[in-house]
Amino acid sequence: MHFSSKLLEQAVDEFGRLPGIGRKTALRLVLHLLNQPDADVNRFTASLNNLKEHIKYCKTCFNISDLETCEICATAKRDHGLICVVEDTRDVMAIENTNQYNGVYHVLGGLISPMDGVGPSDLKIDALVERMRNEKVSEVILALSATMEGDTTIFYLYRKLKEFNIHISTIARGIAFGGELEYVDEITLGRSIATRVPYERNVG
Ligand SMILES: [Zn+2]
Repeated sequence: MHFSSKLLEQAVDEFGRLPGIGRKTALRLVLHLLNQPDADVNRFTASLNNLKEHIKYCKTCFNISDLETCEICATAKRDHGLICVVEDTRDVMAIENTNQYNGVYHVLGGLISPMDGVGPSDLKIDALVERMRNEKVSEVILALSATMEGDTTIFYLYRKLKEFNIHISTIARGIAFGGELEYVDEITLGRSIATRVPYERNVG
């Protein structure tokens, strides 16, 4: 791609770094923004700066939040003894959209992936174990993707959590969710949470 301007090329480079954005799409987005009124572009950049500067992670479940404690953790009428462990905030959003889950969450911030250099200490696993010690937890649902990384993480968490007197379950994994919870339709996801199975039954 030949650019008539270094500034244009730099902006396209930045957009092109975003997931799923090729250089052609990046160019289209940059040219679109260039044609917008200054006020619109300023609002766009300000929202990103604000996000990066002020966003918080809930100190209990590590979901993205505007406050120290997220809205879900702060809601007394939710079942705080039921914790659904997920990879990231998109999974929380997907499960909340089902309107069929009344427990709380724990956001790991990724999955164990030796190939990508992500080990257990890079994730919020110790914090989850702490919650087992300090909160009255009766059940943990491991709602992680049906990928090798998801399986590895589930097995690791199972070994960490089994010493606590809790039920450990996983969501139905036969359903076609392509490894990405966020893409499952709400009915299927809601059903798979409702029909979750004890993890032990799946082991060996
Ligand atoms: Zn929270």
